[in-house]
Amino acid sequence: MKKYEGLNEAMVKHIAPQPGRRALLPPLSEKAKVALMCRMLFKEGWDEHIAGHITLRLSNGNILTNPWELAWDELTASDIVTLDSEGEILDSDWNVTPALGLHIQLHQQRPDAHVVIHNHAHWSGIWANMQRVPPIYDQTAAHVSGDLPLYNEYEGRFDDVNATTAAIKALGNAKWALLANHGALVVAKDLRQAHLRAITLEWRCKRAYEVEVAGGGTPMPLEESQKVSITDDNGFPFLWEAMARRELRADPSILD
Ligand SMILES: [Zn+2]
Repeated sequence: MKKYEGLNEAMVKHIAPQPGRRALLPPLSEKAKVALMCRMLFKEGWDEHIAGHITLRLSNGNILTNPWELAWDELTASDIVTLDSEGEILDSDWNVTPALGLHIQLHQQRPDAHVVIHNHAHWSGIWANMQRVPPIYDQTAAHVSGDLPLYNEYEGRFDDVNATTAAIKALGNAKWALLANHGALVVAKDLRQAHLRAITLEWRCKRAYEVEVAGGGTPMPLEESQKVSITDDNGFPFLWEAMARRELRADPSILD
């Protein structure tokens, strides 16, 4: 019998969805995928009332985002707003928050960042408020490796161009950042990667908080956590689809 060597890139490629295999989801428009992301992440703690924005840059340069007026757990595909690359609304009566300036600038300055997520998520918010970076204590927290910058924006909101420029500089080439006394920021190449990063960040922050409250533990060695983080590139197999199906079961009108 072949020795189990753990999850590796060849295995991820082998089991990835392919034509002819059972479909894990119905066909989804790009707007439906963004609506599903909002619903999925709301359940993962990215749920501060009507705060927060997810932006997805399309191949034509336009950007999809959630409207300002709606909470992430109520919107549907038709509520998703299309913006041009400068942030002007193209197709909706809904408003978008001026704080989207951060996303617009990030999309312009980070060609690799097709998805940007910001909200005041629960557990990452605790570490952002403590102005500390949570250690990685377990495998799920290790799904995404790399630096987790802590950015202390001091002053200025994200509708202020100087504040957004400073935040983007602090983010550098990182995948995510904690914004001191504010919230969290995740960037990614696509929705699948963004989802894994967003849920991994919350998981890591929750576990680290609980471990500390329980009296402390031993963080995973960096080398071990990096072995697990191979999932970061394409997302954990089948996870995005499973979480999307959970939302579709609960409310099929998401696709409307
Ligand atoms: Zn914010």
